[in-house]
Amino acid sequence: MRKFGLVLVLMVVVLVTAAWIGEVTEPAVPASAPVGAVGATGIGDPYFPDLGNGGYDVQHYTLDVDVDIATNTLDASVIINALALEDLASFSLDFAGFTITRLEVNDAPAEYIRENREFIITPNAALSANTPFTILVEYNGVPKKDLSLTRSPFSGGWTRYSKGVYVASEPDGASLWYPCNDHPLDKATYTMRIGVDQPYVVAANGTLEGIEESGGKRLYTFAVRDLTASYLVTVNIAKFTRIDEVGVVPIRNYFPEDKAFEAQFVFTETSDMIAHFGELFGEYPFELYGVVMADTPLSFALETQTLSLFGSDIADSEDATIVVAHELAHQWFGNSISPKYWRDIWLNEGFATYLSALWVEERYGAEQFEQLMRSWYRAISSPQFIRRAALVGDPGASNLFNAAVYFRGAWTLHALRLNLGDEMFFRVIRTYYDRYKLSNATTDDFIAVVDEVAGIESEDFFQAWLYEKEIPE
Ligand SMILES: [Zn+2]
Repeated sequence: MRKFGLVLVLMVVVLVTAAWIGEVTEPAVPASAPVGAVGATGIGDPYFPDLGNGGYDVQHYTLDVDVDIATNTLDASVIINALALEDLASFSLDFAGFTITRLEVNDAPAEYIRENREFIITPNAALSANTPFTILVEYNGVPKKDLSLTRSPFSGGWTRYSKGVYVASEPDGASLWYPCNDHPLDKATYTMRIGVDQPYVVAANGTLEGIEESGGKRLYTFAVRDLTASYLVTVNIAKFTRIDEVGVVPIRNYFPEDKAFEAQFVFTETSDMIAHFGELFGEYPFELYGVVMADTPLSFALETQTLSLFGSDIADSEDATIVVAHELAHQWFGNSISPKYWRDIWLNEGFATYLSALWVEERYGAEQFEQLMRSWYRAISSPQFIRRAALVGDPGASNLFNAAVYFRGAWTLHALRLNLGDEMFFRVIRTYYDRYKLSNATTDDFIAVVDEVAGIESEDFFQAWLYEKEIPE
């Protein structure tokens, strides 16, 4: 994600559903005497101990959500296909708000308790390790807005504004509108069926499979076949015009219908950017790409997977090209390779920031690129920046989106390039991408690839750039 308006160009900025045939195995133990662990109410993230959940691995979410746009009420049914990783007497999901009207595990009613974001479920028969199981949750209500961990404008989950809805959830807004294992360590595929009143249009991740009309409502079905972290799931509702492009990958862009003509010019380089990043790092990781422009200014953009989210203010932004490149770059670094823990956020933001500069280098030449990098260096070495700077490699839970994570993170990569030379630098990054694509990585994983491929000991280098306040020369 990237905020606007810091110094310079600061960035801040399915498998198919199908068919998980949920084979319901006979419970090994009668319900009266469940054995097995109580799945952990966190996935082990040092910054957010309660986020995510242990004991199971979600394969697929099927979200059926009927939206009353006038009242912002959701009437939803969610089916989760998961795999138990250990014997489980109970387990938890992350989920806040709403009235739960039905809960079943493997087609049998289940007990639950709720504490803040934890939704702790006890099935009537214990789950066996390595066995698939199915959870059904039906619920309704208006999404809560005030429970996100970072309180960043892009962390609130389902957000109603005067002309529609957007969903931005980094890091933990997903569980403010659907029950999930809300951590990038548990990626899954999705089917989303979103019902809205005409004449609203729904834009969501993945491929639009169909639109059904009945009784004044439209039901949009999307198939998300690429593994996706919960914070990268987005649903957008407004009076959109859709504009398709044929490029390296299919592109569909959604713009507010009265802003579409101007808006499309902001994104004319997308296909060239995809080709360029593909040449540098490896082919674009997902089945399609595109952007959605909310019908409201946002002052941020977010790399929601296969459909990056922008506000209408992107059209007036002086650094629009850089923001557009940044969100696209995240599809490789952030979305395909996701952070293992939120502490590793610079692997998202430092990389996306540096890649946006690499686009400047490709499009406008070496001189413009060097000027940009120099201006970022001046910014990150100024006393007032350093005073507020978090440590890039360990920014702290309340500082995930600190500007140092972006600009000093980008400079960490640039300094590495200056040390290794272009050929070795890009070989290192390609190897890192190839090894961790479609999964998760830590900073130490990245450093290990640098040392292995370049044949160096880089510990002191990364210590200075990532874990010290003082800025290296
Ligand atoms: Zn970003």
